[in-house]
Amino acid sequence: MNRANTGSAGTVAIIGGGLGGLSAAIHLRAAGRRVTIFEANERVGGRANVIEKNGFRFDTGPSLLNYPWVFEELFRSAGKNLSDYVTLLKVDPSVGFAWPDRTTFTLSSRLDALLEECERVEPGSRPAVLAFLRDAAVKYRIAFDKLVNRNVDNALSWFGALSPREMASLSVWRSLYSELGRFFKSPRICEALGSYGMYLGGSPHSLPGFFSILPYGELAYGLWLPEGGIYGLVSGMEKLAVELGVEIRTSCPVDEIRAEHGRVEGITLRSGDRLDSQTVISNVDVPTTNTKLLRCNGLTGKFAARAANTRMTCSVLTYYLGIRGKIDGLGHHTIFLPLDYQGAFDDLNKHNRIPRDLPFYVSLPSETDPGLAPAGDTAMFVLVPTPLISEACVPDWNAEALEVKRRVFERLMRHGVNIHPTRIVCEEIYTPETWRDRFGLHNGSAFGAAHNLFQVGPFRDANYSREIAGLYYTGASTTPGTGMPMVVLSGKLVAERILQRER
Ligand SMILES: Cc1cc2nc3c(=O)[nH]c(=O)nc-3n(C[C@H](O)[C@H](O)[C@H](O)COP(=O)(O)OP(=O)(O)OC[C@H]3O[C@@H](n4cnc5c(N)ncnc54)[C@H](O)[C@@H]3O)c2cc1C
Repeated sequence: MNRANTGSAGTVAIIGGGLGGLSAAIHLRAAGRRVTIFEANERVGGRANVIEKNGFRFDTGPSLLNYPWVFEELFRSAGKNLSDYVTLLKVDPSVGFAWPDRTTFTLSSRLDALLEECERVEPGSRPAVLAFLRDAAVKYRIAFDKLVNRNVDNALSWFGALSPREMASLSVWRSLYSELGRFFKSPRICEALGSYGMYLGGSPHSLPGFFSILPYGELAYGLWLPEGGIYGLVSGMEKLAVELGVEIRTSCPVDEIRAEHGRVEGITLRSGDRLDSQTVISNVDVPTTNTKLLRCNGLTGKFAARAANTRMTCSVLTYYLGIRGKIDGLGHHTIFLPLDYQGAFDDLNKHNRIPRDLPFYVSLPSETDPGLAPAGDTAMFVLVPTPLISEACVPDWNAEALEVKRRVFERLMRHGVNIHPTRIVCEEIYTPETWRDRFGLHNGSAFGAAHNLFQVGPFRDANYSREIAGLYYTGASTTPGTGMPMVVLSGKLVAERILQRER
């Protein structure tokens, strides 16, 4: 059916209003291009969405905001100040860690507090902490100056930007866990700092050592919560995009990216309406874009094979709980780790099962911004990593979610955190299937393509299509990677590539 054509071919069509899509739109519009975002859901934000219930306001996905300079740069690129749109509240102490034997470790971006806490857990560790921070600072600078923040298409020019000394200092061939072990003797400190690997799609025993920049980045630049929750940041970005003149069409799912003779022609909406465009950016997860939105003769098998060969990060069960009253004994961010640390990662990554000794994360954002819950009450978010949908033997995710919730509450009780069921005013649960169906996440993967050595930099799915001219990608599964700062950079990189090609 040939329905109304709803735009002009000069308009850049962006499919999806996640953070990557919004960032690309802001950069392109600031450079003078006409831009329209087509978002399937009723509001933008993607995984960084919001649930409002019974006076509580829950962020659906991301809850830890770091590298604020990335967002400051985004607003600056449009001649604006982030602080005029979003108020960032500092979270300190930043993240607490707890083990079943009730040992704890708490991170802070205040150096004196960090040194004191490391000294408590590993006496005599002061020089090690300082050496770790110095070493990770070098890695961080190399990563952002030379690797992450530019478009590079092949390994030679990617690594070619590095001197042999810089190359060596990245610890590419060492695992994250052994990299941490170069500095710290305490397994607790290594486990805590290595736990960031969970969100990168591997175990700290297999991910490359340069990911020590993740805990470093948080220690050096702080951990933040936008006022109004993470969605406060999304709203700020949306406001900026609209002010610049980006057209945003919500509740507007795209059915197909049309391409002919190796060139993109436009998109077709689920309504049947068509938009011609010579430049289409998909912010939909890359494997989903290629297997669901492209229907090009001769390429279907190739795209299906590529999606199947892409290693994805884990999926998650997430819980949004409105709790009457305060919860004693928990700060804003707490990560509960198992005693058998490696076993939990093996369960998740090798045996494809929800770990028997469960690692999970609890966030109480109303501790930092009381406006996220009715006066005196607590907004609670729980995240439990799970295997991907196709790999987990879970016949009924809803039933599984209830069983996992029971285990989470049991574990909390062991830490003295007792939440009587009658205090739960409201509750919502997202299973891996919810994440897949609501946001188009391939196989329910929460964080997109994994970050093993063969899926970073020029080895990761590029931000342009090699098969279809005029088709580009932005978001967690393309370069540079996952997480809010990275996808905002991804939007900048794709805009740069488009503008450079059009010059
Ligand atoms: C539970 C969870 C916790 C996380 N925690 C953190 C954290 O603490 N800190 C952090 O930095 N990062 C975190 N992340 C990662 C971070 O949320 C993501 O990396 C980032 O938000 C992904 O943005 P994106 O640009 O890839 O877009 P996405 O969020 O994937 O958005 C894509 C958009 O495309 C839309 N779409 C899909 N199909 C169509 C279609 N056919 N037509 C139109 N639109 C469509 C979707 O509705 C969605 O809005 C977390 C993620 C999850 C899921």
